[in-house]
Amino acid sequence: MKKYNTKSNVKAKNLSDILWYIVSKGKTSRREIEKDTGFSWGAVSESVSELISRGYVVEEEKESAGVGRTAFALKPNGEEIAAIGVDMNRTEIERMVVGFDGGVKISEKVPFKAKTAEEVLSLIDEACEWGINYCKDKYRVLCVGIAVQGLVDSATGDWKSFTGIKDWKEINIPDRISKNFGVSSYVEHDPKSMLASAAASKRRKNCLLVRADEGIGMAVMQDGKILDDSGRFELGHTVAVYRGRKCVCGRKGCLEAYSSVKAMSEIAEAGEEELFSNPEKYSEVINSSATLAGIAISNQMTAFAPEKVIFTGKAFGIKGYTERISEVINEISDGQCEVGITVERDLSAAYGSALSAIGKVIKNNEI
Ligand SMILES: [Zn+2]
Repeated sequence: MKKYNTKSNVKAKNLSDILWYIVSKGKTSRREIEKDTGFSWGAVSESVSELISRGYVVEEEKESAGVGRTAFALKPNGEEIAAIGVDMNRTEIERMVVGFDGGVKISEKVPFKAKTAEEVLSLIDEACEWGINYCKDKYRVLCVGIAVQGLVDSATGDWKSFTGIKDWKEINIPDRISKNFGVSSYVEHDPKSMLASAAASKRRKNCLLVRADEGIGMAVMQDGKILDDSGRFELGHTVAVYRGRKCVCGRKGCLEAYSSVKAMSEIAEAGEEELFSNPEKYSEVINSSATLAGIAISNQMTAFAPEKVIFTGKAFGIKGYTERISEVINEISDGQCEVGITVERDLSAAYGSALSAIGKVIKNNEI
């Protein structure tokens, strides 16, 4: 019995390793899998046949140029399997259905109108229901990925705090979703989901992502791996000003209380719309908020030595904000900063959370 178990465990591990290889490559062949993974030809053939028969992988016949022989392209089956991605963002909720091959099937944004914990949880249920309904008769829903703000343990799925929602109590999201919908789910801090989304298209290895909108968040990728934070990289709640403004987290002087869109609008005593349309009028506020952000980001760059820093979120759409941050970073390094800084406005945490969830389902062998 023990022997049988061991054998089947090894087989399951091979299957998940090979499926992960196919999903991360997007398109491959048995020969390439054999060469890159080190599995024997027999193991590759057997696993691929099983993955095809179980609907995870499709084989597409393709003539290779000139040689006159037929190569077979193996691809993740995006026509039958999909994942739901949800970004629970205080600005706006984005929800989408992503095919197993990474193609977006449908996406939409809905207003975030929750004030209580119960209302937040209903919004999650609504998003799952929306995705599951869309997939009905079309796709098998493999998993749900949820990007959240606040403090979350992505290993367990415990969502510990959600800044701004006063009656929040720690809740295990995968338990709730499994009970309500019978689907596996994973929860991740939203900057990490955005970083997953940014890295998916550009094979980056070491980068830092800073999101600034209603709040401020950060995610770090080192050697191609997104570091698990569980609150350790809470850039928004590092201290920017001693005895400073009260922050939503309850402490005083946090960066978020100065450099988020919400904070700048409060300090400037102007509505957010007004801040965006009349940046010259509020340039003093924008300038000093961006200076604090620049100092804080520069410190993180010293700590993590990224090759690339990615800015995302609507604060970077305010005229002068990004420019001042870059200027401060450059000044601090006395003009020696060689790190590329880019603004990527369209990074989708919902997309990244769906991709991460697909990866976790495969790696945890839940296929
Ligand atoms: Zn704070």
